[in-house]
Amino acid sequence: MTSSQPNSPTLTDPECLFCKIVAGTVPATVVAETPEVIAFRDINPQAPMHVLVVPREHYGDIAQLAAGDPALLAGVVALADEIAGDLADGQFRLIFNSGPHAGQSVFHVHGHVIGGERLGWSPA
Ligand code: AMP
Repeated sequence: MTSSQPNSPTLTDPECLFCKIVAGTVPATVVAETPEVIAFRDINPQAPMHVLVVPREHYGDIAQLAAGDPALLAGVVALADEIAGDLADGQFRLIFNSGPHAGQSVFHVHGHVIGGERLGWSPA
């Protein structure tokens, strides 16, 4: 295997939507990927650029990812930065909803990379 080929994730959940996208059994518009992280367009975009950056390994939320594999979290952030340079002006907001009351609906950690316009601020 070369470094450009995706890793086969060890941590997976057969019921998880984003694990299915990682596996290629559910389609997505992929905009960037590394062996560890995949990025695809949000199906319901909230800004001109709205991409989800997702580690291939299944972690439930950002705290679990940070505790379990901090280097992988750094890889998620690095790919978000790269995408913002490729698809927008390099400036971006990176949002990790954590828990249903915070708006999380898919329980495989993902960062929302949002930008491509001047953003307002109304987090609630
Ligand atoms: P969250 O609510 O923070 O868990 O974010 C989940 C995001 O996944 C939402 O913004 C949805 O629009 C998005 N989403 C749900 N299903 C898909 C899909 N099949 N492909 C791409 N994005 C999706």
